[in-house]
Amino acid sequence: MNRRPGFPARLDRSPTQVRAPAPRVAAQARPAAPSAPSGVGLDSQAIRTRMVTRLAAAGIADARVLAAMGRIERHRFVDSALVNQAYEDTSLPIGLGQTISKPSVVARMVELLLGALPAGRLGRVLEIGTGCGYQAAVLGEVATEVYSIERLRGLHEKARENLRPFRLPNVHLLFGDGMQGFAKGAPYAGIIAAAGGEAVPQAWIDQLAVGGRIIAPTLMPDRRQALVVLEKTPRELRRSVLEGVHFVPLKSGIA
Ligand code: SAH
Repeated sequence: MNRRPGFPARLDRSPTQVRAPAPRVAAQARPAAPSAPSGVGLDSQAIRTRMVTRLAAAGIADARVLAAMGRIERHRFVDSALVNQAYEDTSLPIGLGQTISKPSVVARMVELLLGALPAGRLGRVLEIGTGCGYQAAVLGEVATEVYSIERLRGLHEKARENLRPFRLPNVHLLFGDGMQGFAKGAPYAGIIAAAGGEAVPQAWIDQLAVGGRIIAPTLMPDRRQALVVLEKTPRELRRSVLEGVHFVPLKSGIA
């Protein structure tokens, strides 16, 4: 029940509806019980559509990314006290000192991950830093399989709870140190990090398929973070440094 601790008692009496797989059907069955407090009511779809319009205006062009951002209900991944900010372009606390990334940053990184793939779904993807599970859900819409790893047990469990109603059978949550990657799922068509490290770990490069891409916030020599894209070609690893970003630190070990 991490997801909605402050929800009205009315909803607490019917927990199955809180976890209902088809939220809009549940909402129709109980029109008096809002699916979320102020700001995100029964028609959260309209609010998401506005967010998608803003993302497109800001330069996100990939229709697959825009469709995924329009489908995944971000308000289900934040604390009930923050629900009315869920569709603003802001990062929000998700507990244990971590944050859910801004929608514009999620969209940008997923678009970069899809890269030159002209159509269809990306193959297997590894995400480092599940956090609340939001980006994992978005990835689940654009990739065939998603392995998402989190080093904080509390967040790993929260993400499991958050993702349950979405029923995304292709999203697999793992508890462990993502600095090591996840060799069992390799090779990956794409690897995406939601935490920023000193450098891109060699394990990720080893586990990347030829033709694949790594998108990772990385510290630059001036100690600022920037998005780094690594592309593995048959002959080389191509590295591009893009815009500055602000991610929580990539840490080793589990807790
Ligand atoms: N993608 C997330 C963002 C989470 S913030 C979302 O949509 O909400 C980044 C997460 O990376 C934090 O939860 C942090 O605990 C996790 N993290 C940092 N270092 C890690 C590591 N080595 N392995 C796995 N997770 C890590």
